[in-house]
Amino acid sequence: MCNVDFPNKLMRLNVNLKISHKGFILVLVPLVFELVFLIILSVLLQKAEEEVQRQVRSKAIISQANALSKLFYDAGVAMGGYSITKSPLFSDRYDKIVRQIPMDLTELSNLVGDNDKQQQILVRLKTITSDGLKILGEAKSAIDDNRVDVAQFRARHMYKQIRQLADQLQDELKGLTEDERKIENESPEQQNRSRTMVKVFLVVGVVVNIAIAFLLLYYFLKSISIRLNTVTDNSFRLARGQRLNPPLTGADEIAQLDDAFRSMAEALAEASRKERAVIENAADVICSIDMDGKFVAINPASYESWGYYPDELMGRRFIEVIVQEDVPETIRSVRSVRGATGKVSFENRVKKRDNSLVHVLWSADWSEKDRALFCVAHDITQRKLAEETLRASEERIRKIIDHMIVGLLIIDKEGRVESVNPRSESMFAMRSHEMVGRHIMSLFADSRIFSVNDPSDRAAFMETLFTKANSRIGEFDCLNARGEDFPVELSLAEFEYGDGKVRYMANILDVSERREVERMKKEFVSTVSHELRTPLTSIRGSLTLLAVGAMGALPEQVKKVVSIAERNTIRLIGLINDILDIEKLEAGKLDMVFENSPLTNILERSEQAVSAFAANNGVTLDIQPTSLMVHADGDRLVQVIVNLVSNAVKFSPKGAAVTVASEEIPGGMIEIRVIDRGRGIPESFKNRLFQRFQQVEASDAKKKGGTGLGLAICKGIVEQHGGSIGVESEEGRGSMFWFRVPKAQVIVAPVSAQPATDAGMVTMSLHQ
Ligand code: ADP
Repeated sequence: MCNVDFPNKLMRLNVNLKISHKGFILVLVPLVFELVFLIILSVLLQKAEEEVQRQVRSKAIISQANALSKLFYDAGVAMGGYSITKSPLFSDRYDKIVRQIPMDLTELSNLVGDNDKQQQILVRLKTITSDGLKILGEAKSAIDDNRVDVAQFRARHMYKQIRQLADQLQDELKGLTEDERKIENESPEQQNRSRTMVKVFLVVGVVVNIAIAFLLLYYFLKSISIRLNTVTDNSFRLARGQRLNPPLTGADEIAQLDDAFRSMAEALAEASRKERAVIENAADVICSIDMDGKFVAINPASYESWGYYPDELMGRRFIEVIVQEDVPETIRSVRSVRGATGKVSFENRVKKRDNSLVHVLWSADWSEKDRALFCVAHDITQRKLAEETLRASEERIRKIIDHMIVGLLIIDKEGRVESVNPRSESMFAMRSHEMVGRHIMSLFADSRIFSVNDPSDRAAFMETLFTKANSRIGEFDCLNARGEDFPVELSLAEFEYGDGKVRYMANILDVSERREVERMKKEFVSTVSHELRTPLTSIRGSLTLLAVGAMGALPEQVKKVVSIAERNTIRLIGLINDILDIEKLEAGKLDMVFENSPLTNILERSEQAVSAFAANNGVTLDIQPTSLMVHADGDRLVQVIVNLVSNAVKFSPKGAAVTVASEEIPGGMIEIRVIDRGRGIPESFKNRLFQRFQQVEASDAKKKGGTGLGLAICKGIVEQHGGSIGVESEEGRGSMFWFRVPKAQVIVAPVSAQPATDAGMVTMSLHQ
């Protein structure tokens, strides 16, 4: 059971082990084996070494024992010689041996070491040698004492003893060296065995080691290469779009690589699904075109965009759907794509199935590998239409601007001219490039007096320009390149381009001609008026004479006609007087004599002038008394008050009252108010009320009489006094016309001056 499972387990281990671990094992196993092998080898060598040591020691012990034995004999020989010869040579020899023997014994003891048996033999050897030496010593003493007989007797006895001791010594030494000799004899064999063992062991160890390394290498490499082949095969399968091999088992790097490869393949499949979905659902036509210019792939957008199903286009040459006139340029563009490194864009028109046209922006890329063009065709018809509309609209605006009778100048915040229209060029007698870049101030007559190069002058000019003309119409004098002044009406409008900078558009209207016409018209009216007034005055005189019967009594019907003629003549004369007055006022030619006058005098004169008219209209006049003094032209002030009061009377209902009140107001002015309870003035009319020929109702002139010039004249007169005029009115409830003129001026009488007697003169005393 266990044996059957083992290969499987090994296989599992193999696939679960990481490649790095396998490499580790591949190195580690032979290494461990090598280590064990080395340890065993070193033990064997150690043993061999020890064997050699033992042999050396045995040899030393044997040699030492032999030396000791020899010494012992030598001692006996020396003693024998001495006993016979008594030669000191023998004596010295003997003494030397006696000294040598303990030393040799010690040496032997050292060599024997801790071998118990040999130590015991040594103890016995020591006893024997000491006994022997003792006997020999006694013999020597006897010889030295000349006790020859004793010596001889002893010598015989001693000889026996020595012989015995020598034999014993020999035996003991034999016993001592017996083991050593055995060792000595055994050692070469032992050594040979050890050497052979080491050799065998060395060879076997190396062979086994190499075999294990190769086995492991083979086993690991086999599994690695099989698994790597699977991964490689998968990559080919992926490229060919085939199903991948079953996943690799295990947890090693190859299994991880296989896993990662599968994830990548899945991601690629997902991406390609998405890409297909995008291509299928794209609004743009996406297609590829081969070397022959034929469609080889095209997405379904071709139907929506061009009216052709993809199948209808596949295999057809793509220029067949291009509008004939665009074909040459398209072919040129397509050719350029092949030489280009990146995408190339070009535009053309595609002929739809229903023969309508689509403007298309192509983005094409050449793939050398596929030998095909990959194109995205974007429908830009709407954009083209918009561009066309914009271009047409710009053209229209450009034409309008070019043909405007108003000069247009675009200036920046500082007043630099950025662009001009043709009218500006003719107005200033300059070409646009001469005008662009210069300061607008140089186009004005002011540049004659102030310097356009002086920043403070320029700033002052711009301030005046903005104050007078920003979002309103201001009047200026301009200067053309010929050095001629001409009057203009100018208005500035602020605007911004896309760059966020504020700019101004100056609309300049040359009003020289209009001014000239106005001047001529005024001159004409004034001439005609003058020419008409004299005959009309005489006609009026004649009619008055007729009316009062100076020419005899007239029949009732003729009287009526004469009366109408007289009334109309009076109106005509009034109109002419008013026209002449207003012309004079505007020309500043209406002479006025300003003097301090009591206001009450002026009011009285005015009342006298209109009281009959008021009475005729059934309107009561309520002139409130005042002691105020005004500094004014009395006659002209009467003219103003009479006009205001007669208007008030005209527009008051019968039985109503018209009040004239006055009051001093701050600023050294006196305000005179004419109040009625008539029909009032509509709010919308108030701002035109003081302009010429303005009447609230067109029928006012006919029904109520009047020219529509009265209030304009009043305004002119009051303003020449340095005053102002206005109205407060509520429709249906009445009006209050007011005007302000300066109060009487205080005149400090010179020291030598006589006291003023003139009623119009007011001196300091009046105020005291
Ligand atoms: P006119 O000679 O026609 O009176 P004015 O300039 O004096 O000319 O007045 C202009 C117009 O203003 C009148 O025609 C009338 O419509 C209106 N108007 C002037 N005063 C009054 C007023 N007190 N009440 C109502 N309307 C008035």
